[in-house]
Amino acid sequence: MKFTDLGLAETLLRAVREQGYDTPTPIQAQAIPAVLAGGDLMAGAQTGTGKTAGFTLPMLQRLMAKPAAKDARGRVPIRALILTPTRELAAQVEESVRTYGKYSGLTSMVMFGGVGMQPQIDRLKRGVDILVATPGRLLDHHGQRTLDLSHVEIFVLDEADRMLDMGFIHDIKKVLAVLPQKKQSLLFSATFSDEIKALADRLLNQPALIEVARRNQTADTIAQKVHPVGREMKKELLTHLIKANDWHQVLVFTRMKHGANRLVEYLMKQGISAMAIHGNKSQGARTKALADFKSGELTCLVATDIAARGIDIDQLPHVVNFELPNVPEDYVHRIGRTGRAGAQGEAVSLVCVDENGFLRDIERLIKREIPKEIVPGFEPPGGERPEPIVLGRMVIGQGAGRGGNHRHHAPQRGAGGGGGGGGGGGRGNSPRPQGQAPARPDGRRQAQKPQPRLTQQKPR
Ligand code: AMP
Repeated sequence: MKFTDLGLAETLLRAVREQGYDTPTPIQAQAIPAVLAGGDLMAGAQTGTGKTAGFTLPMLQRLMAKPAAKDARGRVPIRALILTPTRELAAQVEESVRTYGKYSGLTSMVMFGGVGMQPQIDRLKRGVDILVATPGRLLDHHGQRTLDLSHVEIFVLDEADRMLDMGFIHDIKKVLAVLPQKKQSLLFSATFSDEIKALADRLLNQPALIEVARRNQTADTIAQKVHPVGREMKKELLTHLIKANDWHQVLVFTRMKHGANRLVEYLMKQGISAMAIHGNKSQGARTKALADFKSGELTCLVATDIAARGIDIDQLPHVVNFELPNVPEDYVHRIGRTGRAGAQGEAVSLVCVDENGFLRDIERLIKREIPKEIVPGFEPPGGERPEPIVLGRMVIGQGAGRGGNHRHHAPQRGAGGGGGGGGGGGRGNSPRPQGQAPARPDGRRQAQKPQPRLTQQKPR
C-alpha cells in the first residue's frame, strides 16, 4: 500500500512526499479512507503510530473539496476543530496541519493557555480554517465571544483518554454543546475505558472502528522517562513540566519530609496548587489534601514514600520522582500508582548527578534502561560534581547516589567491612582513589565524578 493508493489529492501527496513518506502506517491506511468517506470514526491509536497524519490528511482533503462559506464580514469561519489535552501536543498537531496543508490553501492556528489572549483574538479575526486547541483556552475565548464554533464541519478529539485522565470531561462536554449537531467527529484514544466508550456514544454517530496494535503493551502502559537535570534546577524543571504540559494531577515524590515542604512552598509561589502529605501532617490535613487531589482541585500532591504507602490513589496520569528513592523497590511502588488497568500513565524522574547510582540500581531491578531525555533549557551543568545525599542523620552514597542498602548503614562501619551489612549486600562500593584518605566516617570518599559502578569491593 502506498499513499498514492488512498485517494488523496496531489497537493497533499506532494506535502507527504516532501516529508519522505511513501508508505502509510497501519492507522493511516485505515483511517484515511474512512474519514474521506465522511463518517465518524473511533480509533484506538497512540502517539507514534502516525495518527496525526491519519486524521489531518483526510480532514484537509474534505475541507479543500468544499469551499468555505464566508461569514457576514467576509471572513473564513473555523471549519475544523482539533482538541488536544496538552499545549505541547496542540503545537505538534498544528505543525503537522501546516506541514501537510502546505499546498492546500487552508489556514490553521494553535490556541492554548498560559499566553496572552489578544494575539489569539487578532489571529482569529483574520479568519482560520483549522483550529487546534486545548479545552480551557478554547472555552475562555468562547465565553468572551471571541470565537465562533458554529461553522465547524469536522471535530477531532485527540488523545481522548489523556483528556479524561486530566479531568477535562466537563470542558469537553461544554465544547460539544457549542458545536453544531451536524458534523463529522473523530475520536482518537490509546485506551477504551468505559468512560471513553460513554463519551464516544455521546459524540459519535455509527462510527467506523479502527484499532491498531500497541507496540509494547507493558512498556507503553507506563511511559517511564528520566530527565537528567542540574541539582539546583529540579524545582524549575518540575514547574516547567507542569505548566508546559498542562498537567493537572501530579503525584510528586521526595525523599524527605522537609524536602516535600520546601517543594510545596516553591510550587505555590509559582502559582501551582500543591500540598504535602507526610508523617508530620495531621490526619485531617492529609485527608483534605487527598480529597482535593482526587477531586482535581489540587494539582500537585507531594509525598514521601512512607506517607504514600497508606493512601489509596492510583491510575494517576503523572507520577514525578522529584528525587529518586534510595531503595530501588520504592521506585516500582511509586510508578505503580500510574497507568493501572490499561490506562496510560507517565512516570518521570528528575535525576541529578548525585543520583546516578540509584538510577543504575533501579534499572537493574526493573531489568530495563529508562529512556533519558534532556529538557532544553534544563541541561545538567557541565562541571557539576556529585555530592553525598544526606538523609536526616544518615549520609548515603558518596556523590554518585549509591544504592545498595545504605538506609541502615552504621556510621562506624568501613566500606570493606564484610558485605556491607544491613541486608543490602554492600553492592556497588566504588574504590577509594589511590593515595587519598577516607573523607567520611564510613571510610568512603566523595567521588570527583560519577564513578562507573563496580561490583567488587576494594580491600583496604
Ligand atoms: P504521530 O503518531 O502522529 O505522533 O506520528 C509519529 C511520527 O511518525 C511523526 O514523527 C510523524 O512525522 C511520523 N510519520 C507519520 N506518518 C508516517 C509515515 N507514513 N511513514 C513514516 N513516518 C511517519
